[in-house]
Parts: sequence; structure tokens; C-alpha cells
Amino acid sequence: MPIYEYTCKACHKDFEELVFGAGDTVKCPACGSTKTEKLMSCSCFKTSDGQGGYSLPASSGGCSGCSGGNCSSCK
Ligand SMILES: [Zn+2]
Repeated sequence: MPIYEYTCKACHKDFEELVFGAGDTVKCPACGSTKTEKLMSCSCFKTSDGQGGYSLPASSGGCSGCSGGNCSSCK
């Protein structure tokens, strides 16, 4: 299952969400707003911009966001 990164337009919190199907409404876990926007990149692009906790796998064929190399960003 893909994990996508979203940002909340209401409180500007970034979070990740498992997405089971297209068109799902994603709620912000912080404020409950549904005004969320999917970010184009997955967390394998995330560096040291304040989120932390993510490390780029050397050559395991996946990233911490999609766990298996099945997102368009980590091929
Ligand atoms: Zn929010």
C-alpha cells in the first residue's frame, strides 16, 4: 500500500497517510480538517528539513515512504 505525503492547508502540518484508493478524503491528524493536499514527492525526497527520522536506504530498492521501490520517486 502506498504511503503518500500530505500537507494540511488549514494548519500547514505535513503528515503521511496510507492511501487505499484514489479519491480518498484525507483528514489532517492534527486539526481534523479535510483541506489537505497530496504532495508530489514521497518521503524519500525528504532530507533534513525538520521532519527527521528518515534516512535514505543505500540500495535496498525502496524508500521509507513506499517500502519497496514502487513509487515513482525512488526508482
Ligand atoms: Zn491540519
